[in-house]
Amino acid sequence: MADAPMKTLAVLGSTGSIGTNTLDVVRRNRHLYQVYALVAGHNVDTLCSQILEFRPKLAAVATSAGVARLSDCLTAAGLPRTDWPQLGWGDAARVEAVRAVEVDTVISAIVGVAGLEATYEAVCLGKRVGLANKEVLVSGGALVMEAARRHGVELLPVDSEHNGAHQCLRAGNREQVAKLILTASGGPFRNTPANELAFVTPAQALNHPTWKMGNRITIDCATLMNKGFEVIEACWLFDFAPSQVEVVVHPQSSVHAMIEYTDGSVLAQICATDMRMPIQYALTYPDRAEAPVPKINWAEARKWEFMPPDFEKFPLLKLAYQCQEAGGSATCTLNAADEIAVEAFLEGRIGYLAIAEIVQETLSRIPSRTPRTVGDILEIDRESREMARVLVSGSSDQPGSALDSGIVTA
Ligand code: NDP
Repeated sequence: MADAPMKTLAVLGSTGSIGTNTLDVVRRNRHLYQVYALVAGHNVDTLCSQILEFRPKLAAVATSAGVARLSDCLTAAGLPRTDWPQLGWGDAARVEAVRAVEVDTVISAIVGVAGLEATYEAVCLGKRVGLANKEVLVSGGALVMEAARRHGVELLPVDSEHNGAHQCLRAGNREQVAKLILTASGGPFRNTPANELAFVTPAQALNHPTWKMGNRITIDCATLMNKGFEVIEACWLFDFAPSQVEVVVHPQSSVHAMIEYTDGSVLAQICATDMRMPIQYALTYPDRAEAPVPKINWAEARKWEFMPPDFEKFPLLKLAYQCQEAGGSATCTLNAADEIAVEAFLEGRIGYLAIAEIVQETLSRIPSRTPRTVGDILEIDRESREMARVLVSGSSDQPGSALDSGIVTA
């Protein structure tokens, strides 16, 4: 990698779990990467420290009030005005961050559909995109993949399972692939009896056994919704039918994905459970660089288990397969409703079981259609959220309704 040309990055979601890990990879490889743009939501303190360390030319936050707070932070930090990056906020600034001609590589790690427009723009501009944001493909898979084909862009998955699949697929012919196997840790409730799930708390759900991630994705791991999203993403990324993507529970999270070829041979991708591994792969591909974290020590005794997921106990996984099979905007609604339900669960307004109920009910009330633009997707997303919010407040207000089985009441 010594002679590789310097890459210039826009990091969308720089203050989050993937964003900070990306910047750690940059920190370790200053000779390979420079940061042109940092895009965050509301965490201006962290963004301010990142600006001081990485000196981007552009920094964006979610709101104009955030820009004011960021300006205060930069002033308090003593950074001379002449050294400040250009500051911006909202959709326009996110898109501007990826549009800059200097930027050749975009790490898409904003959580939620707030990351869709800028990621789509990066694809349309033919930039390298390291894709962590799930909502981009779950909500807008058809549109984004069509743009990627049109502009000759290969999306490089940062999600560890898809990253593993990407690596395994490089080993053989695509025509000889029988199926993709995604592993799932099983989440914190893998061994919790189904009849106790109604009483689990947000704190228990946030206690992921193997990965440290943002709140939304951690709860989605506890319901296996996240694995459902990954099935959808895998279908788009690698052109699989849902029936060709199998989920296997592997509590140790060391094997990230496997590809079964037509002769029954299975190739697995295995590495340390640390997001800096797939982030670095997405940045260096098709090359490889020194491991950013300790390698697996094969002399240590270890036990790896594999078992089937429980589709009855985790209905959102099954629902994800059904939505992808159905096509149209079902997966967009699935994601939007889940985000609202997860938020309500984290705030203690609904119980764990109500997450799946709200999502299911929203899907039955929002008709599926074919989105043709990013605007269409954002509109379906908005309608689905609104419906999910109504269902959340209805179920909290009316104990005894069809949706109350997982509701937390005072
Ligand atoms: P976090 O919650 O840790 O971080 C989310 C990031 O998005 C933060 O930087 C946040 O900014 C930013 N953000 C939120 N809303 C906006 C907005 N309106 N405008 C601009 N930025 C915004 O999430 P993760 O890093 O865990 O995950 C990011 C994405 O990657 C998700 O889609 C997740 O599903 C996916 N992913 C994550 C993995 C992981 O290991 N963490 C693994 C695989 C996929 P701020 O904090 O400043 O508000």
